[in-house]
Amino acid sequence: MSVRFSVLGSGSRGNATLVATRSTRIMVDAGFSGRELARRLDAVGAAPGQLSAILLTHEHADHTRGAGVFARAHGTPLYMTAGTRQACDSLLTGSETVHVYRPGRPVTFDDLAVEPFITVHDARDPVAVAVSEPDEDLRLGIATDLGKPGVQAKHALRACDALVIESNHDEQMLWAASYPAAVKSRIASSHGHLSNRGAAALAVELLSPRLSVVVLAHLSEETNTPALARSTMERALAKKGYKGRVVVAGGDSPTRLFDLAELRGRSRAAQLSLFGQLPG
Ligand SMILES: [Zn+2]
Ligand SMILES: [Zn+2]
Repeated sequence: MSVRFSVLGSGSRGNATLVATRSTRIMVDAGFSGRELARRLDAVGAAPGQLSAILLTHEHADHTRGAGVFARAHGTPLYMTAGTRQACDSLLTGSETVHVYRPGRPVTFDDLAVEPFITVHDARDPVAVAVSEPDEDLRLGIATDLGKPGVQAKHALRACDALVIESNHDEQMLWAASYPAAVKSRIASSHGHLSNRGAAALAVELLSPRLSVVVLAHLSEETNTPALARSTMERALAKKGYKGRVVVAGGDSPTRLFDLAELRGRSRAAQLSLFGQLPG
């Protein structure tokens, strides 16, 4: 059964991603208001009341803003690390169902397996996730708010069909920006956010024949542009022979629903037609 996903919105104003099979729907992060999350889920054809779980990656408001309100309104179970649970206390009233998950311990929701893995970021106990569907061997990595991607991140994000990765800032635009020096240093540090160049280097390192779409996420509105983020990634991947797509996720509206099985079929067909053109 295929896996579909849509980045419902991404950036400093909010982050949320829907991952769905025919029987399971999960949302990774809930960084918009409860009402806005419901509206965006509706926009991609997912009824807000039918989510199996919301998985939070860390406590920053752009990932958790609507988590409590949404969970209470729709009875959705919340998953988060112990540190994130403590840091999110003010969002929760105690009437929600909260499960604690741990990096390196996969959690299964019917036909989807979610592997949380450790990230380095200035939050209490941050993770990112890889989501897989074992029957068709489909795999999606969702990793934003990465300072310096560590071995755990690189291991969890290997052999993905699709990657949603942070492409936060252009390094030159960041240093030219009017932020205080301490803020710039924090963003660029190993506990901050991944630059366009950093994202491209990570994607090149993770590149495998099965990768067919890279979605760039968490773009800064002040120190990046969609065109810069996309061209940096496209150039780096093209040099390595990547034939898939590069898509930028914005803050205002959801991306289309990507279908991992369909994308895989398409990239196989492209490879076959390429072979067909070769002599002999
Ligand atoms: Zn963060
Ligand atoms: Zn964030």
